Amino acid sequence: MNNACPIELTKEPKIAYFSMEIGIRNDIPTYSGGLGVLAGDTIRTSADLKLPMVAVTILTKKGYFIQELDEHGKQTEYPVSWDPCRSMTLLPARITVQIEGRDVLVQAWEYNVESLTGGCVPIFFLDTDIEGNAPEDREITHYLYGGDLAYRLKQEIVLGIGGVRMLHEIGFEIKKYHMNEGHSSLLTLELLNRFKRPIEDVWDEKLVWDVDKVKSLCVFTTHTPIDAGHDRFPYALVIKIMGEQIPLNVLKELGGKEDLNMTRLGLNLSEFINGVAKKHGEVSRNMFPGYEISAITNGVHTFTWTCDSFKNLFDKHLPGWANEPELFVRVGRIPDYEIWNAHMEAKKVLFDYVKKTTQIVMNPDILTIGFARRATAYKRADLIFSDIERLERISEGKLQIIYAGKAHPKDDLGKKLIEKIFSIKEKFKDKIAMAYLKNYDMDIALKMVSGVDIWLNTPLRPREASGTSGMKATHNGVMNFSVLDGWWIEGHIEGFTGWSIGPSPTETTLTDNMDTRDADDLYNKLENIIIPMFYKERHTWIRMMQNAIGKNAYYFNCHRMMRRYVTEAYIR
Ligand SMILES: *Cc1c(COP(=O)(O)O)cnc(C)c1O
Repeated sequence: MNNACPIELTKEPKIAYFSMEIGIRNDIPTYSGGLGVLAGDTIRTSADLKLPMVAVTILTKKGYFIQELDEHGKQTEYPVSWDPCRSMTLLPARITVQIEGRDVLVQAWEYNVESLTGGCVPIFFLDTDIEGNAPEDREITHYLYGGDLAYRLKQEIVLGIGGVRMLHEIGFEIKKYHMNEGHSSLLTLELLNRFKRPIEDVWDEKLVWDVDKVKSLCVFTTHTPIDAGHDRFPYALVIKIMGEQIPLNVLKELGGKEDLNMTRLGLNLSEFINGVAKKHGEVSRNMFPGYEISAITNGVHTFTWTCDSFKNLFDKHLPGWANEPELFVRVGRIPDYEIWNAHMEAKKVLFDYVKKTTQIVMNPDILTIGFARRATAYKRADLIFSDIERLERISEGKLQIIYAGKAHPKDDLGKKLIEKIFSIKEKFKDKIAMAYLKNYDMDIALKMVSGVDIWLNTPLRPREASGTSGMKATHNGVMNFSVLDGWWIEGHIEGFTGWSIGPSPTETTLTDNMDTRDADDLYNKLENIIIPMFYKERHTWIRMMQNAIGKNAYYFNCHRMMRRYVTEAYIR
């Protein structure tokens, strides 16, 4: 249990931040990946900046899942068991939502994110596992991204409609509702009902729905650059599960003719809409013509994503850095050997963990590549193995690779990808030392982004809306070696902050398979630039590490991101 936020904080009107997943602490497993970690970073930063914010999410008592990998890399999933009592306070407030005609009780657990600055942001974790609810309704908040379409819709009713009701019940006044992706878009329907005009005041029945009022209250952030990634529900299912919150003809105008498209619903009812990187803004404007869509490039929470040895270094040379990441501009003051020593310390922490969990012993003097992200086809974790003989020739014992990442339980291709990496790892173990860490989470992420020498990213353009792990790497002086997509288009200066893979992006739609061209560029740069520089020009290498901090971390942090949300989205 943690302390309550100071009482005066509850009086001021709030920005309510809604997210299906929030990664706030490693032992609160209510996140699966980038979206949740971004939400956590947003909240931590808002606390640092003393923004008047409250956050709402789902408790997911069984978490996402624990990943087991056998010796062939075959993944098995287990539910997580954790006890919210240990870190959160159950509130007395209860509300109900209607699901399939039943009244479903919802309660909330409060967790307060407190900053050393004195700021505090409460998070309310919604929970339907309450005595009195039907057994199936008690499970609604158990699994993150589990179950079928009906299960997802029920969760979204609890999050969107239940979330607004809960904040109201607790007594908050809300001045903006920020939807982090479409999962919480149903909150707009609850707001439409709340701000309904009296029927006798309007000349057309439709004008009962004060769309402009709701729009003035809502902010929508989209994260998905491909059409198939957006939540959609057939109207028959919608009517069966939630009835008519608003008349079906009105809902269809707002949420799409054929299906209820949660992104469209959010877009139609938000005054401010944004994508999460410049390129992603462009891709989104193409995908949803007719909407004004801005771009606020993501950032990461500087303190959370800096490892201990670099924290010490920054404390010594750039005091105040954690709440003012702009101070990274002065990274040039830090002597080379101190940067290198801090890096070698981080490398040791990672290699000790690799040894402890996989029994694989890695050599700290060898150039080490890190690759960790959701195991799914478009991320192309195996691009570096396109021509394995060539990789062998290039590396000649000069390269090590560390992997991590879970595949979604239903993503068979993603699972096959892990197995493929395992088989290559076995086959070539005498030539290239490789490790695959299981159960990727926030702790492992920090160890990896700080403990490798370069951070590899090879998504198929333009699938990576932003990406954030590469930003974490830069906070630890680790350079990116990545396809020009998402944030890296903005952060990349060739041979200065890191290296690109493949051509400059021009397209905004999915392009043909570019594997061969990208792989070729990857091998060329590894062989001719990266490997020689790492072993023979350590001074230049460390200069680039400084640039990663002074040019990338300086900008791609969540403090800069939140200041933009405040001035462009929240205060309008
Ligand atoms: C940062 C983070 C991610 C997101 O990384 P991407 O580069 O966006 O794929 C995913 N999972 C965990 C555990 C993280 O810490």
